[in-house]
Amino acid sequence: MAATALTLGVTGVPAQAAPAPGGPGLGDTYFPDYGNSGYDVGHYDIRLRYTPSTDKLTGTTTILATATQDLSRFNLDFVLDVSSIYVNNRPATFAREGDHELVVTPARTIADGGAMTVVVQYSGVPSTKVAAGFTAWTRTPDGALAIGEPEIAWWWFPSNDHPTDKATFDVSVSVPTGVEAISNGTMPRPPVQETLGYTRWSWRSLKPQATYLTFLTVGQYDITQDTTANGQTVYNAYSQLLSPEWRDGAQASVERTAEITDWESTLFGPWPFEARGGVVMPPGTVSFALETQTRPNFGASFFRRGANTSVVVHENAHQWFGDSVSVADWQHIWLNEGFASYAEWLWSEKNDEGTAQEIFDYLYATYPDDASIWTTAPADPGVAELFGDAVYDRGAMTLHQLRVAVGDDAFFEILRTWTAEHRYGNGTTAEFTALAEKISGQDLAALFQAWLYTPAKPVLASAAGKAKKATPATPKSWAEISQTHALLHEH
Ligand SMILES: [Zn+2]
Repeated sequence: MAATALTLGVTGVPAQAAPAPGGPGLGDTYFPDYGNSGYDVGHYDIRLRYTPSTDKLTGTTTILATATQDLSRFNLDFVLDVSSIYVNNRPATFAREGDHELVVTPARTIADGGAMTVVVQYSGVPSTKVAAGFTAWTRTPDGALAIGEPEIAWWWFPSNDHPTDKATFDVSVSVPTGVEAISNGTMPRPPVQETLGYTRWSWRSLKPQATYLTFLTVGQYDITQDTTANGQTVYNAYSQLLSPEWRDGAQASVERTAEITDWESTLFGPWPFEARGGVVMPPGTVSFALETQTRPNFGASFFRRGANTSVVVHENAHQWFGDSVSVADWQHIWLNEGFASYAEWLWSEKNDEGTAQEIFDYLYATYPDDASIWTTAPADPGVAELFGDAVYDRGAMTLHQLRVAVGDDAFFEILRTWTAEHRYGNGTTAEFTALAEKISGQDLAALFQAWLYTPAKPVLASAAGKAKKATPATPKSWAEISQTHALLHEH
C-alpha cells in the first residue's frame, strides 16, 4: 500500500488509494504464509454435518470481518473443496494457490474499515487432504479429532489462520444421533434432533479465540457436567473406547479440573474464560494433549499408569499462557510451554512432591552437556525444536531463575500483570522480559541473555568456584512430569 500514497485529485478531494490484494501470509518468522493480511476476523459461525463412517464433512462457515485496507482480493487458509463463496451477499470468484491458500475475489472491492460477510460452502473428506506434508485431521474408530498445533483449521473451516487474529466462535455440528460432537465453550442449547437420524450439537466461545485452539471431537463419549464455585459450567468428556483402568485414571485427573483451575487462578489471575472442562480421546489416536480453549483434549495414554494431574495442570495453565495470552509469532512458543511446564513444578511444590528448586537442580545436573536443551536457545528454537526440551524444560528453568532473582512476590506479580495486560491478545519474549525488569526494578539482561538467547548451558552464579556436587535426588513428582513431557513431545 505504500506505493499508492494519497494524492489530490483534480477536484481537490483526496483520491482513494487503489484497492489492492491482501497478502497470503502475515510474515510469521517460522510460518510466513500462515494467516493472511488485509482483514481482521471478528466472528466465525461454523455449521457442519459430519458422518463418521465415510469421514464426509459438509458445511458452511460465515466469517464476519473488517477490511484493514482498501481490498480488491483476499486469502483464506483452507484445503477442503469449496462450492461457493459469497462476499457481502454477492457471489465471489475463488482459486487455489499453494497447498492451503484460497484466493477470494469479491464482486465489489471493500473499503478500508468496511464490513465483510464471507460465506463459504464446502465439503470433503478431511483425512484425504494433504497440506504441509500431512493431514492434521484424525479419524478414530468411532469419529474424528480436529486437534493440532499450529495446523488444524485448514481441514475443517476456512480462516485467517494465525494466533494474532482471534475471534469469537459458534460451532454447530450435525452428527448421526447417538454420536457426540464436542467443541469449545458453552452449549447455548442442548443437542437437537434435526433430520432423520442426525442430531445437531451447538457450542459457543464468547471470548477471543485463536484458530488452532478451536477444536472438534466427534465419537462415542460419556459427558459429565459440573459447576464451579463461581458458577461456570464444566463439561468433561471421556471416550467410550477407554478401558476401565484408563478411564479411572482419566476421571481421577480430569474431574479435578475445577479444583486445579481455581488453584491456578490464585497464581496467574482470574480464569479468563466462560467455561471449563476436558476431553479424553480414544486410545491409539492422538497421543499428545492440547490446550484447546476452555476445554483441553488429552491423549488417553497420559492415564495409562493411573491418574496424571500434571497434564491437567499443564494444559489448563495454557489457558492463561497460550490461549488468553497467545504468541504474537510462533518463535515465542516458550511463552506457552515454559510457563505451562513451570505450573507443573508449582503443583509438585504445593503437593510436597518436590520443590521447583529441586526439579531445577535435578534437570540442571542430569541433562547431558550436549543435549538439545542446551544447544537450542528457547527464544528462537527453530521449527524443528518448536516443541523441544529447550522450549519446555529450559523455558521452565528460565522462569525459575527469574523467580530466584526477583523473589516470590515480584515473580507472581509479573505473571499476573502479564496475563492482565495481554488478556485476549498476544505477547512477545521482549515484552515479557521488559515487564519483568519493570516490576522487579532489576537489570535482568544477563539472566535472559544466558537462559533465553544463548545456545549453550548457562553457568549458575551460585555454583561458580564450588566443587561439582553429587547428582541431586530425583524429585517424587519427576516420574509423572517426565512421562507427561515425553508424550507432549511426541506431538
Ligand atoms: Zn503445552
